[in-house]
Parts: sequence; structure tokens; C-alpha cells
Amino acid sequence: MNKTFAIVFGLLLSILIAIVPAQAVGAKPDQLYIGQVFKIPPKKLSMQGQHILMTREEFRDWLFNSHVNRKVNIIQQHHTWLPSYKHFNGSNHFKMLMGMENFHKRKMGWSNIAQNITTFPDGKIAVSRPFNIAPEGTIGPKANTTGIAIENVGNFDKGHDVMTAEQKETIVYITAALSVKFGLTPSIDSITYHHWWNLRTKQRMLDRGPDYNVKTCPGTGFFGGNSTSDAINNFYPLVSRRMQEIQASRR
Ligand SMILES: [Zn+2]
Repeated sequence: MNKTFAIVFGLLLSILIAIVPAQAVGAKPDQLYIGQVFKIPPKKLSMQGQHILMTREEFRDWLFNSHVNRKVNIIQQHHTWLPSYKHFNGSNHFKMLMGMENFHKRKMGWSNIAQNITTFPDGKIAVSRPFNIAPEGTIGPKANTTGIAIENVGNFDKGHDVMTAEQKETIVYITAALSVKFGLTPSIDSITYHHWWNLRTKQRMLDRGPDYNVKTCPGTGFFGGNSTSDAINNFYPLVSRRMQEIQASRR
């Protein structure tokens, strides 16, 4: 056997071995085999600019697969007040996000849209300001430095927008998913309402804030009210229950 022939033959043999399909060596067509290459088409999320619009399930998968390189131990709840339900037409999520982004940059002088997350009346969730960057906003640096800000589209002061069941579920669900992600137990220290922070001093007053120095945000009708006892009695138990379900489904 001359040398050239041996090389060509050897090469051919190795190509043949490489392309013999697994079925030919005894594996059933739907059986997995070592060395199999999976083709999982990447799911395209709905995006516009920096804004990513997601369902609850998409948000969960996105969150548990993302790496956050700063400490997060406060989840902030806000309502947008303006825009409110009457500005939402079911398909203008991105338009509303761009509107808020422009307002925050041009009128408020912030570097980007203030909030990391926005929830909508149809239960959709947008991630805007990257999680690795602390939120901005009137709540102040103490709440923002290690915070994640959630803006819930609507005016949830009593007598105004009545929160939809879908948005309610989304707010509970994402607060629970974030608590799981960052290892938080729902309490007045870990899940905070804007109403509890003094607008002038930027310190946390809880229920002692004088009306003229606190916002009603996230609304006097937010899960039954905006006081600490409203949060403890009406909101945290829902979040804790959903956390257990999320943790059980991840085992
Ligand atoms: Zn607020």
C-alpha cells in the first residue's frame, strides 16, 4: 500500500465514521445518544430599544438565567399614576415605555428610564433599565442603591383605576420570582412602598410620613392600601405563597 493511498483511505474512513448516523449503530430515532447535537431554536423576545416585553413565564426564565452583578435587597413598588389605564390600548406597551423614558431623561434629568421593571394592565412585564444599574427616582439613593424598582402602570389611588386580575397576578408573581432570585423574605425591609419614604429627606418613615412630604405611591388602593399593615396583611402573604410554588417548580 503506497503512502498516499493509505492517507486518502484513512481520511475517507474517518469521514465515513463521522457521518454514520446514530440510527445505524442501533439507537432508535428518538433516542438520545452521546455526541448528539441539539438544535434548540432561540426564542426571540419582543424588544424595542432597550425595552424587553415578556409574559410572566418568559420573565421567570429570563430572570433565572440572568446574572446580576450588584447586591439587591430591596424591591420597590410604585404606580405610574400618569400614564394610567386610560392611556393603555392593549398594544402600546413600547410607546408608553418610550414616553416614560423620554420624560425621565428630558424632564427629570435622569440618565435613563428610572425603573428596572414596568407591569401593564394586561399582565405583561417590561424590563428596561438594566438590572446591573440601580434605579433612579424620587424615592432616593437609600432605597435605590440596592434596589430594583417596579413601576406598575395605573393610578391605584382609591376611586381611580381598579387593578385587573392579570396585573395583580403579575405583580405578585414577579415580586415572588425576584425574592427567590435575590434570596429575600417578604417584609417591610425587603419589599418597600414609595409611600414609606420621605420625599425631602429621602429617609424611610414607614407610616409616619407627613402627607405633604410623601407620595401615595403605589396607591391608596394598592392591594388594599399603601400602609405597612396593608402590605403585611394583604400583599406579602400572596408573594410568600407564590414563592413556595416557584421554588417547588424549580426542584
Ligand atoms: Zn413611586
